[in-house]
Amino acid sequence: MIIPKPARLSPEQLAEISAIVEPFGCRIQPIIGAVRNIYAIVGDERDELMTNRLEGLPYIERVDKMQSPYKLMDRRSSLSGNKIKVGNLTIGEDLLVIAGQCTIDPKNPNYFYETAHAVKEAGANSIRGGVWKPRTNPYSFQGDNKSLDILMEAHRRTGLPVDAEVMDEHQLHLAIEAGVHMLQVGARNALNYSLLRAIGGAVASRPSTVVLLKRSIHMGPLNEFISAAEYIAAFGNPNILLCPRGTSPAIDGYRNHPDESITPLLKEKTWAPVVVDPSHSVGKAAYVPACALAAVAYGADGLCIESHVSPSKGIGDDPKQALTPEVLAYTIREARQLWAARREARAHAPEGISSAK
Ligand code: PEP
Ligand code: MN
Repeated sequence: MIIPKPARLSPEQLAEISAIVEPFGCRIQPIIGAVRNIYAIVGDERDELMTNRLEGLPYIERVDKMQSPYKLMDRRSSLSGNKIKVGNLTIGEDLLVIAGQCTIDPKNPNYFYETAHAVKEAGANSIRGGVWKPRTNPYSFQGDNKSLDILMEAHRRTGLPVDAEVMDEHQLHLAIEAGVHMLQVGARNALNYSLLRAIGGAVASRPSTVVLLKRSIHMGPLNEFISAAEYIAAFGNPNILLCPRGTSPAIDGYRNHPDESITPLLKEKTWAPVVVDPSHSVGKAAYVPACALAAVAYGADGLCIESHVSPSKGIGDDPKQALTPEVLAYTIREARQLWAARREARAHAPEGISSAK
């Protein structure tokens, strides 16, 4: 939809606009108003170059797109019935819980094996473990290839699928070769389009590999977040989980600004499951359970929670934000009860609640 600066476009201006949109297979349809006209673009209006050319005209105020920029991830796309499986769980049939250490300590693999068993016992469906870490401080521990073997050994010992972040193509290929079941795109790389394309290409022929896509750190708009998922899906594997994880600037006292409340907004736009990470949102173990429950109340399909058998002995984020297995078990129990209660209540929900409920 074209919103012009003047109340009506002149015949010459309309001709100029038509000459721009016709090569893109579109035409212009004026919508006559009492005070001013607006102009519909009939056809596929998503081409960015066409929009940029229109917005470059001095008499155009702006172009509002009616179509969403993401064809595959759109809630109305033919993929909207896509069922994503993580291990034995089909998302939507129960709350997905991914849990485990922020960072695997290659010098102390037994902590990770114990954590893996403990999070399974607590009710998690999948184990997370940071092999390579995006660290603000360049002198902090950056991860270690050896941790990939530890991660896969934890999978063999527990039978649960495992999740790890990859930050570049080399790590991506090592993770794929090792058989990592879920590839995490971190908040710092959520807009790294060449990495997103590389991941899309790598998982295209592996439909059982799932991508956990974090939201970018700086209050990224929802369309930007879903479009990042579209980058991956465009290669052929749409098994992508959207992960709000808190944004900057932080609320004083929390690590970030908790953003689980965007869940119903995402669900109105996309069919992709929402898996909230309360650990990086609030950043302190004491606040994580409440944030996890809030996420479920907002309609999240899953949670990604940092947990460690002995947080004070952990590395990376674990000393400050990992839940002990006991608190994790309590949180998962409460979260699953709330998830089930919501599902039951939704069956009798009155009109007027968000269409995504
Ligand atoms: C993590 O999951 O440990 C992590 C670094 O996450 P984020 O990319 O959300 O900061
Ligand atoms: Mn972490």
